[in-house]
Formats: sequence, C-alpha cells, structure tokens
Amino acid sequence: MVKRRLSAATIAAQAGGYIDQASGGVVPPIQPSTTFVRDRAYVPHASGNIYARDDSDTVRVAENILAQLDAAKVALLFPSGMAAIAAVFRALPTGATVLLQAQIYWGTTKWVREFCSRRGMVLVEADLSKPENMDKLCASHEPDLVFIETPSNPWLRSTDIAHAANKVHDVGGRLVVDATAATPILTRVLDFGADIVMHSATKGLNGHSDVLAGVLATNTPESPHWQAILTDRHDAGAIIGSFEAWLLIRSLRTLHLRVERMSKNAQKVAEYLQGHPNVEEVFYPGLIDFEGHNTAKLQMKGGYGSLLSFCIKGDRSNALRILGKLDLFHRATSLGGVESLVEHRYTIEPNTGIPENLLRLSVGIEDIDDLIADLGQALV
Ligand code: PLP
Repeated sequence: MVKRRLSAATIAAQAGGYIDQASGGVVPPIQPSTTFVRDRAYVPHASGNIYARDDSDTVRVAENILAQLDAAKVALLFPSGMAAIAAVFRALPTGATVLLQAQIYWGTTKWVREFCSRRGMVLVEADLSKPENMDKLCASHEPDLVFIETPSNPWLRSTDIAHAANKVHDVGGRLVVDATAATPILTRVLDFGADIVMHSATKGLNGHSDVLAGVLATNTPESPHWQAILTDRHDAGAIIGSFEAWLLIRSLRTLHLRVERMSKNAQKVAEYLQGHPNVEEVFYPGLIDFEGHNTAKLQMKGGYGSLLSFCIKGDRSNALRILGKLDLFHRATSLGGVESLVEHRYTIEPNTGIPENLLRLSVGIEDIDDLIADLGQALV
C-alpha cells in the first residue's frame, strides 16, 4: 500500500509523530547537556551523541519535524536565519558566480554583497521575479547558485520557483529559495524543484517572537554543496541551543492554525487598505490585480501569508504620523508573530530604494475587526 503523504498541518499538530521512547510522553523532553558519556570501552552511550556542537537530541527532533514539514529528506537548524543564509554562501567555492534576487530582505543583500566581494565571487543582482530576467541571466552567467525570496520582503514580489529551478538546472547551478514569508504551510518549495529551502524560523515558524532560528532543508543531501553546508555548520559551530529548539518544537504544533489565521487577516487588511482613500498602493500577493498574483496562486496553497506593505498618500511625515497613531499594531521590526507589527522600513534602511511613504505590516492572529478599526482611526 502506498503511504499517504501527510499534510503540513498534520505534521505540525503531531510534532512529526514524535513520542518520547523513554517515557511515552507526547511532548519531547529538553536535553540541555553539552557533552555525552562513553562507556568503559569508549563507545558513546548513545550513538551520535558526543558533543552538543555536533548534534543533540532536542535539535535532532526539531530538525526532523522541519524536514517533514517541507517534505524534505533532511533539515538543518541554525541559530538565526542569517546564519543559515551565511552557511549557503560559505559552502560555495571561491570565485563562484551568484545570481541574487534584487530588493529582498536588506540584511541578506548587505551580507551577500560584502561576502562575495571578500571571497572573489561574481555577484549579479536583478529582479528575478521577472521570468525574462531569470532566462537571460541564467543563460549569460551560468550561475553556480541562484538565491530568490518569494514572496519578497518588503515588496511581496512572487517568483515562479518551478521556472527558476528549470533555468538554473539547465546551466548546472543550484536554486535556493528563502520562503520565510510563505512557510511550508503555504508553499512546499522543494516540490517545485528548488534544491534548498531556507526559512528564518524566527518569523512564522516559531511565530511567538521569542526564538531566533534559521533552517535549511533539501532532498539532495548527497550533493557536494549540501555536504559543504553540513561541514561548515559542524566545524564553524553555528548551532542552535536546546531550549530554543524545544520552544520551536512547541510553537510548530500550531503553525498551520497561526498561518491560516494570519493569512485570512492579512487578506482582509489588504483589501481594506486597497479601498482606502488615503492609501496610494498596496503590495500583497493575495490581491487579484497585484503583479505576481497568478504566480503566487500557483505555488501558495491556503493563503498568502502575514506580510504586506502599503504606501500612504503623502510623504514620510504622513507615514510616520499614521504609524504613531496605531494602538494595536506594535511599532517593531520582524514578521510572522501572533501579534501585529508595523514598520517604517525607510527609517531602518534609508537609500536602498524603499519609498519614504511605505509602511510594512505583519498581520497577526488578533480579531480582524479590531485590526481594521485600528487602521481606520489611524488613517484619517
Ligand atoms: N529572510 C527574510 C525574508 C527575513 O525577513 C529575515 C529577517 O527579517 C531573514 C531572512 C533573517 O532572519 P533572522 O532575523 O532570523 O536572522
């Protein structure tokens, strides 16, 4: 009998089917030990457990759940999303060619630029959400690695993952997708042919604004690139602590409910803002007339995520005035948490192409009428 592939919702709710073998507990214990004993013949007491920088039980359980959620063979946890991204690039050979999607999370762009220049890598940045750019640049540069973010932060551009994978594979390269804003509930990125999916687990995966973490997952663990990532994490020590891994395991159990609710709320907020006279433009992949909606619809199932941006009519001072009047949206960075957040990205990253009148929202799981009433009183 062919075993039915479980949906991400079932995997999340049941912590990947985990039952503690020692106690029968349905919740995994925390194993905080940094070192593990060997017997008198010097054989490790538990195979695989030697030192917590190499591996540990709680981290392994979390990685197992994360791999299942993305329908991947393996997943690796890192102490932040940036640590996961850094491992992807550090594992490339010196002199490699990289194609990077333009106007994505600024922290990624900044770090990749500096790293590539230090390591003698060729870096090409372009709007890869446009398929013609992907075609042209893959053919002309034959990149070793293409890195895209979909939907992108803060522009919410959607890139066709299957199309990108075909183009990159045609020239022998690898496709890595930052799917932080989608989560595996909305998009199982590897199903579309990507080689590695990356998430900042600090965001929707953990969703409670109390853990920093990053994850990479793949279905080709035997590839030299993945093996180099594995060695890099092991040797350079970018490992997450047991307590963070355990908190993440706990949070993942409600991932599907949170993502569902946030997506529903964000869709309603986007539609409300679109019809508001003081709003110039709304960026949200769930809006049918938004560029990239058809691509998003193809690869996002059950909603379009918690992240949206909008430009208000007026200038920077108008944007800051509205942001200052909000009562429920916390003025704070980040996204994917249960509480709604608002951010003026221009203040954080001026002169990077973000308009001064743009506000970015991360829509939480609160009551939608309360959220819309708050936006309404601030937008007058
Ligand atoms: N990728 C995206 C899309 C992000 O928004 C962020 C952080 O905001 C990161 C990666 C980096 O993740 P972390 O903050 O966990 O290092």
